[in-house]
Amino acid sequence: MTTLPNDISAVIEADRAHVWHHLLQHKALETSDPRIIVKGDGMRVWDAGGREYLDAVSGGVWTVNVGYGRTSIADAVRDQLVELNYFAGSAGSIPAAKFAQKLISKMPGLARVYFANSGSEANEKVFKMVRQISAQHYGGGKSKILFRERDYHGTTLGTLAACGQPQRAAHYGPFPDGFVEVPHCLEYRAQWEGQDYGRRAADAIEEVILREGPDTVGLLCLEPVTAGGGVIVPPAGYWDRVQEICKKYNVLLHIDEVVCGMGRTGEWFGYQNFGIKPDFVTMAKGVASGYAAIACTVTTNAVFEKFKTAEDPLGYFRDISTFGGCTAGPAAALENLRIIEEEGLLENTRAMGARLMGNLRDLMARHSVIGDVRGCGLFAGAELVTDRTTKAPLDEATCARIVAETAARGVMIGVTNRSLPGFNNTLCLSPALIATCADIDAITD
Ligand code: PLP
Repeated sequence: MTTLPNDISAVIEADRAHVWHHLLQHKALETSDPRIIVKGDGMRVWDAGGREYLDAVSGGVWTVNVGYGRTSIADAVRDQLVELNYFAGSAGSIPAAKFAQKLISKMPGLARVYFANSGSEANEKVFKMVRQISAQHYGGGKSKILFRERDYHGTTLGTLAACGQPQRAAHYGPFPDGFVEVPHCLEYRAQWEGQDYGRRAADAIEEVILREGPDTVGLLCLEPVTAGGGVIVPPAGYWDRVQEICKKYNVLLHIDEVVCGMGRTGEWFGYQNFGIKPDFVTMAKGVASGYAAIACTVTTNAVFEKFKTAEDPLGYFRDISTFGGCTAGPAAALENLRIIEEEGLLENTRAMGARLMGNLRDLMARHSVIGDVRGCGLFAGAELVTDRTTKAPLDEATCARIVAETAARGVMIGVTNRSLPGFNNTLCLSPALIATCADIDAITD
């Protein structure tokens, strides 16, 4: 139980009257109360009705990696805010420098951190860097940005131009030019016959580069494990071939770690499971586990050096994020990283992730509605079908009902929600990295 504030009814009415919720069809609130979460502790949250939930989605959108109620993060943020809350423009800050150094120590081969507030922004920074490199080093060539079917990179017009989930982008165009989609790599929904699916799916990227013209393509942007597009772990052979292709055609490789970053997959970053050497890495959600807003665009010295020039007055990266200068973000992120390291949460994620996948495979053996289970670390998906042979996807309304009924039984799970026409049928599980065996079993039970 948690103690509710005395004015909770007034809060609910204020919310109903004035708050426009993210991702919500507000028609639903004509017949039900808004969901308001009032308290979190460890793996658990409580709502405004006093109901307790085991949170298997880390704050709804795979964010609260170290769990709720971390007073050491709150203390670090408080201490920093009292010392200096903010100063931006071209100035740095103590927590930003310390966090950047610590972060880079976990990312061999990368060297520079650019701070912002959201995953969308972090990704747009990459797109802008690539466009500037194109203008200044390739005479406008190599400006095209490839993204993958089913991947998602954010909610701004620039990142929606790179959106492989048509339902997220619908109605919001026109978008900026020069973004080109490559096919997804989900073997369960195979688009090609034959062996060696990972290599074949990566070959499809080469086909797009050749079609567009290698001189026009500057960036390939991919999620290491696709999140909202169905929890897709690329098949064996995929990443080696992707890297070969990028090298061959001089295409920079951008790994969007907004979901996978900071331990979610059992390594610091998702790409580290696959031996990838990226040119850009972006991250947001788990960087400070939701205790403060922070996002990072990380890149190599080779990229950074391209922006250092004495001759061209427009040659530096002319970008600013006002709240990229908030010190609360890096202060929280530094403590968040310490917690993951000192509490052995990567090891726990690998062990509990294996248990979660084992439990899901057992469920699949018992329930034909589960067509496929996929995952990496504490990041799993169960794709629901009406028939295992035809793989016909279970309909969206039934999937949503499963999520609602699971919540009614005290466990919050997620679903690929209104992202892909006809394929909003993958249940998503991403509990905090502190999950115990009992938590994992309770989720799958
Ligand atoms: N990239 C990925 C892979 C995401 O899943 C998301 C959000 O869910 C984003 C980028 C955008 O991040 P934000 O919502 O912080 O802008």
